Amino acid sequence: MTKTLIKTWSSTVASSGKTLVSLQRMSKRYGDHLVLPQIDLRVSEGEVLAIIGPSGSGKSTLLRCLNYIEQPSSGVITVADTQIEVGKDDNKRRVRELRRNLGMVFQSFNLFPHMSVLRNITLPQVRVLGRSEKEAEDVARRLLERVGLADKASQYPSRCSGGQQQRIAIARALALGPKVMLFDEPTSALDPELGLEVLGVMRELADSGMTMIVVTHEMSFAKNVSDHVVVMADGAIIEEGPSREVIPNPQTERARRFLRAVN
Ligand code: ADP
Ligand code: MG
Repeated sequence: MTKTLIKTWSSTVASSGKTLVSLQRMSKRYGDHLVLPQIDLRVSEGEVLAIIGPSGSGKSTLLRCLNYIEQPSSGVITVADTQIEVGKDDNKRRVRELRRNLGMVFQSFNLFPHMSVLRNITLPQVRVLGRSEKEAEDVARRLLERVGLADKASQYPSRCSGGQQQRIAIARALALGPKVMLFDEPTSALDPELGLEVLGVMRELADSGMTMIVVTHEMSFAKNVSDHVVVMADGAIIEEGPSREVIPNPQTERARRFLRAVN
């Protein structure tokens, strides 16, 4: 881990108990396939929630419905001050408002290949937030420094390692000032060593008080960094609780089987 990664992030509030994200009876079906029958979930400000579970259990669908990358089928979604009842008031304007508070980092880094690293981080700020180029660049440089990549500003993403690209993707999401960061298996496309530098940045972010929902197969991250864990199987939450209790000592047979397989 480089020294720069150890530097502190500008600290936001630690967990205050105030609910920042809630899903009430959220469901998702694809045709006849009910992928998420009914999900209830709550995340407090400053909390780090890990979502774990076997492949195909609906983890990505949950995250994608939460920020309306996928249209949910029913339920009520609340993020900060925005509440949306699916199918009732999910017009474009409300969805945009919902997304304003959500930053998303995917398994594949999704950087723009034809733009410099710096441009990748400034352009969304100019487009989405209407920031001036100068202000966007200041923010971008500050964030690049925080993820330990100040020297990569003028490079193209293809010249960066997978771990660096994912840290750039994190900086890009943070540049829009989200209240909650969503991660969907951010390290699963990376060699273990490169995964570690990304997990280091995520841990820093968690320590700074950022509210995070992290879909991950990294059990040491889930156990040591997340506060709460949700175990999913077949579209349902089969177990949840404090990570330090649930991960070493799951109560359901299905969760035990999954955790034995990944540990
Ligand atoms: P996970 O992220 O836990 O591996 P996913 O959320 O990707 O699981 O998938 C959950 C289920 O939803 C799977 O059965 C998958 O086949 C199905 N699914 C996901 N996306 C689609 C889609 N676009 N169309 C139809 N079925 C889908
Ligand atoms: Mg997935």
